[in-house]
Amino acid sequence: MRVYNFSPGPSVLPLKVLEKAAAEMTDANGTGQSVMEMSHRSGDFKPIIEKTEALLRELMGIPANYKVLFLQGGASLQFSMVPINLAAADIDGQKKKVSYMDTGVWAGKAADEAAKYADVIVRASSKDKAYSYIPANAQADSGDAYCHITLNNTIVGTKWPYLPKTGSVPLVADISSCIVSEPLDVSKFGILYAGAQKNLGPAGTTVVIIREDLIGHAAPWAPALLRYDIHASEGSMYNTPPCYGIYIIGLVLDWLKAQGGVPEMAKINTQKAALFYSYLESSKNFLSPVEKSCRSLMNITFVPREKNPDKVKDIEKRFVKEAAAAGLVNLAGHRLVGGMRASIYNAMPIDGVKALIAFMEKFEKTL
Ligand SMILES: *Cc1c(COP(=O)(O)O)cnc(C)c1O
Repeated sequence: MRVYNFSPGPSVLPLKVLEKAAAEMTDANGTGQSVMEMSHRSGDFKPIIEKTEALLRELMGIPANYKVLFLQGGASLQFSMVPINLAAADIDGQKKKVSYMDTGVWAGKAADEAAKYADVIVRASSKDKAYSYIPANAQADSGDAYCHITLNNTIVGTKWPYLPKTGSVPLVADISSCIVSEPLDVSKFGILYAGAQKNLGPAGTTVVIIREDLIGHAAPWAPALLRYDIHASEGSMYNTPPCYGIYIIGLVLDWLKAQGGVPEMAKINTQKAALFYSYLESSKNFLSPVEKSCRSLMNITFVPREKNPDKVKDIEKRFVKEAAAAGLVNLAGHRLVGGMRASIYNAMPIDGVKALIAFMEKFEKTL
């Protein structure tokens, strides 16, 4: 039996995608091979990567002057690649100034990694209130090489309700946990990147969408595999790309298109999130710890209203255990922040959210 999987990542994939992949496991497109067995340079694989890229371009409305790269190393490797390619010192030169917005654990990790290569300036932070909001009026300085944000903060459950003012400074965004969840104007960004395992497919593939003028500025010492120019000129095939992941992303995007594309998905995602947040607002025992204007559509965190720390721990432990027994799995909050979290990515049906609410209503009677 399939469960409702609220994991933050790797996370739920559409059942139809899994079934199609299963049906094609040993013989994809009449090639007599699994996609896993194909040479990445073969005529069998070429249409697969081309289809995945074309669908992503179509569904996200990616302008022609942006390259789409399928890389490895997760979003975490982009924490290094972005500064190495845009702001690191030349052999004799100066590190460049870069803006970071400190809105959570991943944003902090991105800034810490960048500080190894660039002159990081944290221009706004919500650390004072446990990252429960997005700072207002964040902006970059005109001299910065780029400005980095984490558009959806997966762990605490917030989302930027606006974009910082950057003028001509390229805006770089980690969109790991919100890619294709709602429309995004790609032309407002210099670089977008996402690990696939939240909303796109299996772990192991990282999507990078980069404006062409930002390619070609890597530090001269940069390893080949960390250079955007090499990946771009080789069509993501400088070395063996994550072939099977790219194939699954293609199937997920087929599914997304059949749902009506990103705008239609956004409607469903908004409905799902509204249902759950309004339940939390009316709940006597649980609440959302984040500011209303900054609520994430994808990762909804919640905590007991109870104040006694021992009782809180007991409730959380029992909640996660009993939910799992009821077929609602992976609801524990991130190990750094505790509490609970329901990740309701594109592939989580509204029925999953309804089942969670029904479980919680029953659970509340036991408190
Ligand atoms: C999951 C996540 C990461 C880490 O991704 P990896 O692919 O494991 O490196 C980074 N940023 C955000 C916003 C995430 O949700």
